[in-house]
Amino acid sequence: MSKSYVIIAEVRDGKLRQVTLEALESVRIAKEDDDLISVIVLGHQISPIVEQLSQYVSGQIHVIDHVDLETYNSEIYFTVIKGLLDNLNPHAVFLGHSASGRDLAPMIAAYLNAGQISDVIAIEKANAEVIYTRPLYAGKAFEQKKFTDGPQVVTIRPNNITAANADTASSQAEIITIYYSPPPSLRSIVKDVIRKTSGKVDLTEAKIVVSGGRGVKNSDGFKPLQELAEVLNGAVGASRAACDAGYCDYALQIGQTGKVVTPEIYIACGISGAIQHVAGMSQSRIIIAINKDPEAPIFKIADYGIVGDLFIVVPLLTEEFKKALA
Ligand code: FAD
Repeated sequence: MSKSYVIIAEVRDGKLRQVTLEALESVRIAKEDDDLISVIVLGHQISPIVEQLSQYVSGQIHVIDHVDLETYNSEIYFTVIKGLLDNLNPHAVFLGHSASGRDLAPMIAAYLNAGQISDVIAIEKANAEVIYTRPLYAGKAFEQKKFTDGPQVVTIRPNNITAANADTASSQAEIITIYYSPPPSLRSIVKDVIRKTSGKVDLTEAKIVVSGGRGVKNSDGFKPLQELAEVLNGAVGASRAACDAGYCDYALQIGQTGKVVTPEIYIACGISGAIQHVAGMSQSRIIIAINKDPEAPIFKIADYGIVGDLFIVVPLLTEEFKKALA
């Protein structure tokens, strides 16, 4: 009998988040040919996103478009999704391992009485068994897990699984628009969203991250890093020491108690490489470290190391990339 796979799409600032397409690809790996795919997308004025999704999905797209859904609200989103899941009777639900995905996934798992595998970085299928790989101990080890039975909930770490390709020729999406009825009572509402970072690229989905540590010395010290990030269309991150010192906002913190990033290129500037920082960036594909101390531990995990003063090296890199990318 065919099984039902559900993907909870994620919309932010009017854009579909890349991790949704990575979750879609994960489902394509996990499912059997005759299994059904349904994508749930909530938001406000999301017709362009539904249009975009329809190029990727051969299955159903369940759309609820309402001003109440413009900003993520745990209670509203969970209530709405719960109602849809009742009809879809999912075998598995896939979400991004993002702030909202991490919030929703355990609630959905509890509601469905499902098993949950979180923070998945790779999926493979062998002899009809689906194996999920996830990091442990701050990326120092990996475990491989599988579900034995029952409903399943999976969260996918951004930037690890190749995103699904658009398939305009064979995608046949059935778009189902659903009327929004607000939950009868709400214990919380979102009054306003105050953005602390002004970067154009989301840190957790950025392909290139330029990070600064205590070595940047003050908030002005982040300027050359911002310039480099801009030229590379990347995002700026930071160590906790830089955040604690007030050089930048905590929204930029990468590490054990900050964000986990897995960009193609991570450029660590004036960061020593403490284990708690490494926990948030060790899975980056290429690590470049710039540090004036040749003994800094960051060089042990770096693919490329530059021993030097970041205030000299970073502007030089920016100039060279400007020329190369012109
Ligand atoms: P430092 O260790 O002080 O290193 C600064 C580096 O800059 C040095 O290597 C120095 O050689 C170099 N430098 C100085 N000037 C220059 C220059 N001009 N050019 C080039 N290099 C220069 N940390 C995190 O980052 N993220 C976390 O999530 C996190 N969570 C934590 C959780 C717990 C429970 C604890 C106890 C700690 C946590 N920490 C975290 C803190 C962590 O242990 C380190 O203290 C922190 O990562 C150090 O930051 P840093 O590398 O910027 O500073």
